Amino acid sequence: MTDREVRHAELAEQYLPAEVLERFRERAGDYDRENRFFDEDLEDLKDLRYLTLFVPASHGGPGLSLHEVSRLQQRLASAAPATALAINMHLMCTGVVKAMNDRGDDSLNWVFDEVMAGEIFAFGISEPSNDWVLQGSTTTAEPMDGGGYLLSGVKIFTSLSPVWTRLIVHGLVSGGDGSDSGGLAGADDGNTAADELVYGFIERSAEGITISDQWDVLGMRASQSRATILDKVKMRPEHVSRRIPTGKHPDLLTFAITSNFQLLIASVYAGVARRALELGAAGLHKRKSAKSGTTFAEVPEARTRLADAHLDYLSVPAMLDAYTRDFDELVDHGAGWPLRLVGARIKASGAARRAAETALMCTGGSGFDNSHELSRLYRDATASLFHPPSADAARPMYAAMLLDD
Ligand SMILES: Cc1cc2nc3c(=O)[nH]c(=O)nc-3n(C[C@H](O)[C@H](O)[C@H](O)COP(=O)(O)OP(=O)(O)OC[C@H]3O[C@@H](n4cnc5c(N)ncnc54)[C@H](O)[C@@H]3O)c2cc1C
Repeated sequence: MTDREVRHAELAEQYLPAEVLERFRERAGDYDRENRFFDEDLEDLKDLRYLTLFVPASHGGPGLSLHEVSRLQQRLASAAPATALAINMHLMCTGVVKAMNDRGDDSLNWVFDEVMAGEIFAFGISEPSNDWVLQGSTTTAEPMDGGGYLLSGVKIFTSLSPVWTRLIVHGLVSGGDGSDSGGLAGADDGNTAADELVYGFIERSAEGITISDQWDVLGMRASQSRATILDKVKMRPEHVSRRIPTGKHPDLLTFAITSNFQLLIASVYAGVARRALELGAAGLHKRKSAKSGTTFAEVPEARTRLADAHLDYLSVPAMLDAYTRDFDELVDHGAGWPLRLVGARIKASGAARRAAETALMCTGGSGFDNSHELSRLYRDATASLFHPPSADAARPMYAAMLLDD
C-alpha cells in the first residue's frame, strides 16, 4: 500500500469505523421505510467529529483535504446514501470556506468557528424553475438600511431540513432604476445588466422561515430535503459574503461552491455504485441455476453483465481521485475545470444507476423485495437524475469546448 492509501485507511477507521458503518446500514432501511430523518446517525457522526472534517488545525479541526473527504463520503454512502447526501451539504459549505482560505480569502473563516461550536450548515440554492442555478435567483433580496438584506422566495430540496442552523442562500438584488423585477438572471423578464446576486448565510432562528411539511419521495428519503419558504428573512450584514453580477461571472465563491458540490455529490453516487456492485456479486453467488447446475456466479452471461458494470464504475473513483487532488493542490485548469467537475458528477450518477440496475438483475427477484437493501439503493440512485446541471444542460459546454464556439 502507498503512504496515501495507508492514510485513507487510518482516516476510515478513525471517522467511519466498520461497526459504526454497519449500524448506519441497518438503520438506513428503517429511516427509508418510516420516511424519517437520520437522527441517530447524526449523533454518531457528531461523536466522531465528522462534521468538522474540513476545519483547519488553526481553528481546532483536523483539516482534511477534499481528496480525503471524498474518500470518506464514498465510504459513508456505501452504507447510508441518504445520510451521506445530506451531510454532504454541511461538508460542502465548510469545504467551500476551506477552498477559499487555501486560495488566500479568509473572509468566511468565521464559519469554521461556528462549525466547531456545533452549528449545522445547509445549502439553500435550488429554486423552482431556476435552471440558472448559481447564476440567477428567483428569490428577492431587498437591501436593508445599515447593510444586510431581506430575502423572500422558495428554496427547494433543502437537505438536513430538520436540523440545519445556518443556510447558505442567494437572492436577486434588482439594479437599474431600483425596481424589483423578482425574476431570473438572463430571462426576458425585465432584469437589467445592473442586477446582482447576493450570497450569504441566514440563521434558523431568523423570523420568516417556514419548512414545508411535504416530503414523500422515491429515494434518499432520510435526507428530509424539504422546501424552505423565506418571507423577508434577514441576512445580517456580517453574514453577507458576496455581491456578484447575474449570469456568467468568474468568482472564487461560486468556483468553490461548484467544485465542492460536484465532486462531493459525485463521491456519494460513487459509494452507491460500489455498494450495488458488491450486492450484485453476492446475488450471483447466492442464486442457483438449475439449468447449469451451478450458482449464477459461474454463468458466463451473468458474469459479463457484472463485469461491464464494474468497468463502467472504475472510471469514477479515478476521476474523483485525480480532480480532488488537483483541487487540493490548487492546480489551475482554467476553463477546463467545469468540464472535469461536472463530468465526474454525471459519470458517477450514471454509474450508480446502471450498477443498481445490473445488481438487481444479478440478485433476481429477491432484490426487488422492499426489505432488500438493493431495492432501496436502486431508488436512492435515481435521485442522481436531479442534481444540476443535468446532462442536457451540460452537453453544450462539452460540445463548445471542442467546436471552438
Ligand atoms: C435528494 C435530493 C437532495 C437535494 N438537496 C439539495 C440541497 O440540500 N440544496 C439544494 O440547493 N438543492 C438540493 N437538491 C436539488 C437539486 O440539486 C435540484 O436543484 C433540484 O432537484 C431540481 O429540481 P427541479 O427544477 O427539477 O424541481 P421542480 O420540479 O421545480 O420542484 C421539485 C420539488 O420542489 C418542491 N417545490 C417546487 N415549487 C415549490 C413551491 N413553490 N413551494 C414549495 N415547494 C415547491 C416540490 O416538492 C416539487 O416536487 C437536492 C435534490 C435531491 C433529489
